[in-house]
Amino acid sequence: MSNTQKTYDRLVTELKEIGLLGSVGGVLGWDEQVLLPDKGRELRAGQSGLIARLHHERFTSPLIGQMLAELESSGLLADPHGDVAVNVRQTRRSYDRATTLPAELVERMSRTEVHCQQAWVEARKKSDYGHFKPWLEKMLALKREEAQCYLSAGGDQSDRPTTLYDALLEGFEPGERAENLRRVFAELRAELVPLIEEIAGRGKSDSAEVLHRRFARDQQEQFAREAAAKIGFDFEAGRLDVSAHPFCSGIGPGDVRLTTRYREDSFTDAFFGVLHEAGHGLYHQGLPAEHFGTPCGSPVSLGIHESQSRMWENLVGRGRAFWNYFWPKAQERFGAALAGVSMDQWMGAIHRVEPSLIRVEADEATYNLHIILRFELEQALLHGDLSVDDLPGEWNRRMKQDLGVDVPDDARGCLQDIHWSGGMIGYFPTYTLGNLYAAQFFEQAKMDLSDLEGHFSRGDFVPLREWLREKIHSQGKRYSARELAQKITGQDLSAAPLMRHLREVAQIGGAV
Ligand code: ZN
Repeated sequence: MSNTQKTYDRLVTELKEIGLLGSVGGVLGWDEQVLLPDKGRELRAGQSGLIARLHHERFTSPLIGQMLAELESSGLLADPHGDVAVNVRQTRRSYDRATTLPAELVERMSRTEVHCQQAWVEARKKSDYGHFKPWLEKMLALKREEAQCYLSAGGDQSDRPTTLYDALLEGFEPGERAENLRRVFAELRAELVPLIEEIAGRGKSDSAEVLHRRFARDQQEQFAREAAAKIGFDFEAGRLDVSAHPFCSGIGPGDVRLTTRYREDSFTDAFFGVLHEAGHGLYHQGLPAEHFGTPCGSPVSLGIHESQSRMWENLVGRGRAFWNYFWPKAQERFGAALAGVSMDQWMGAIHRVEPSLIRVEADEATYNLHIILRFELEQALLHGDLSVDDLPGEWNRRMKQDLGVDVPDDARGCLQDIHWSGGMIGYFPTYTLGNLYAAQFFEQAKMDLSDLEGHFSRGDFVPLREWLREKIHSQGKRYSARELAQKITGQDLSAAPLMRHLREVAQIGGAV
């Protein structure tokens, strides 16, 4: 065995152990949201902090840097999409990012995050933007400082980001650039705004009433479990529990945890929430276990992750073919609540489009306008084109312009999301990227697989799951998100497939 091969094997062994440390942090995090007694919070903060520190120290050790440098000058990287090249290239990206920030800045950021988030919780409760404003200002200054560190770091990658915003976006969607997103989002917005105006012009309907009858909690849970299992989530390698904020945690091979919450006066929250998280879960379960801990065994980006959840939640889970199979089961299970309801009525209800104030409650069409607004405002804030003083006014103006709604107070306006208070600037666009990629992949799957909807109608979701596994899940970080989409669909990212889908949604939602 050559020396460089030995070095590579050592790097992989090291990354796998670091991956194990990360998964220990994952178990602690899941437990904190699902099981931890209140009085255990301080202990848990200590435990999680220690694991995070050990993880960071291990990953940023000079040893990793030496191994990477040795491998980069070797002949092992000849095939750019081979395992070795992918693992070395992607580890280098993460390593440079993790070692660039001075410890003193990291420390200041984590302290400010705690205060900023506390201020945000208070401010939202009282709808008092003035209470949050100075902290948002501090947070933005720190994010500029952080971004500047990435920009001025060395390295010879030709595709390095060149703006403050791109430097932050890189942390969530590697290789993506705001300029590309602005082009695709503008296409999307140009078609969405008039479509939503047209729908709003039809007047209010009470078609969604059927979704707010009484759905017993236990029945909801069993039905959601049945659906998650049917689309292929492996409950022997995963769980479904309850938490205040639903999430999916891919702890590692054989252990993927989903959570949801149940409300007896709502069908949609838990059911579509579970399909969404199960979509994330299927991605984790489809990652190659033998590559655990290394880039070849890791998800590509937040946008691609979200494409998996949105596909199962919206494109499959709200589709007619899906309900051809599940509707009789729902009627049987929920008896009185659904008695006398036709499947067409049901389809109308789950596709209803209506402009509203809150992002997380928005339907799949208006949702993207909430995101585009945040994407534009956070760039302007970061680059100093919008002052924190002017944020609420600008927010409200855009809500009126794009969605036709009046924002009554900042709690239901610019204070509604946690992201900015936690320093997550550059995160929002990945949600709409997920919708765009989902629509693009789903159109391709329908072309590649014959009679996909016939299969769904018979309750057979295996062909789609296997297609996703082969094309996306098993690839790890072999390709960037954009390369992956190009490779699978032959097209660059575009708004067209999502708009085709949303026009259909508007039609079904407006038909009742
Ligand atoms: Zn998601």
